[in-house]
Amino acid sequence: MENLSTTFHPKHVLEEYGPVHPNDGAKICIICETCISSRPNYFYCRVCDFFFHKECHTTLMESNLTIDRPRTHEHKLTFIRKTNSFNCDACGEVRSKKMNMYACLPCNFFIHRNCIYLPKVIKLTCHSHRLFHTYHVPDCNTGCSLCFASFVSGCGGYMCINKTCDYKLHSYCATHELIWDGRDVEGEPEETSNSEDVTSLKDVDGNTFRHFSHHHDLLRFCVDGEDEGDERICQACILPIDFDSFLGCKECGFALHDTCASLPRKMEYQFYRHPLALEVDIEEGFFSCS
Ligand SMILES: [Zn+2]
Ligand SMILES: [Zn+2]
Ligand SMILES: [Zn+2]
Ligand SMILES: [Zn+2]
Ligand SMILES: [Zn+2]
Ligand SMILES: [Zn+2]
Ligand SMILES: [Zn+2]
Ligand SMILES: [Zn+2]
Repeated sequence: MENLSTTFHPKHVLEEYGPVHPNDGAKICIICETCISSRPNYFYCRVCDFFFHKECHTTLMESNLTIDRPRTHEHKLTFIRKTNSFNCDACGEVRSKKMNMYACLPCNFFIHRNCIYLPKVIKLTCHSHRLFHTYHVPDCNTGCSLCFASFVSGCGGYMCINKTCDYKLHSYCATHELIWDGRDVEGEPEETSNSEDVTSLKDVDGNTFRHFSHHHDLLRFCVDGEDEGDERICQACILPIDFDSFLGCKECGFALHDTCASLPRKMEYQFYRHPLALEVDIEEGFFSCS
């Protein structure tokens, strides 16, 4: 351990520590907000009682504590070397006791280091339109469409490009790793969903049908209540076919409930990053992620 002061935190004398002791796992770097044990060397300020990685400190100082005109703001941003307890303009959150914000003072603009790189335009499977990031979510009477909590007045979030939807999300809800695929689709053409691709069942001539999962023609049959011996199993949902009409193969035992046969091949599931694809299996029937 040696004592030194840095230009990053000049007021106090810092203690420098070498490779981290396993017991230090719970300590968090005040700059990058990850565990101190994630990088080899760190500083400790006993007066302020905070830790930061040597590497994080070096990177910051090398950048002169500034980021020049990032995509999110038209001016140079400067790192604030004080723990902050004010709202981030991009996400509305306050993460107190952290040193993680940049500012453009002429604009009175404050933003978390992580929020500087928030995507501009995203597409989530839980909503049919694209969402764009805005620094001002209007009409704070309604909350986030995912978590239903309210927005901080005058702060940013994501909104549907189609204003009539009134669909809006907190920045942290919209970019949560469970629902966002990590892609910024700004400037990319919209994927038009090809209806051929999502339709499972094709009508061949009014009587015969083709299902994408089977290589023979299918006919529509009615369940004959009398005939106990011929109880077919639906290959999509693996339940017996014991009511109404169903689609059955002329050449083999393959059969599907009418409703199961018309399930789309791709289904957008509310809380999943990718659309799910229908797979029909002789043993099991299920939707799975492709
Ligand atoms: Zn760090
Ligand atoms: Zn200090
Ligand atoms: Zn933020
Ligand atoms: Zn500015
Ligand atoms: Zn919409
Ligand atoms: Zn939310
Ligand atoms: Zn079925
Ligand atoms: Zn068949």
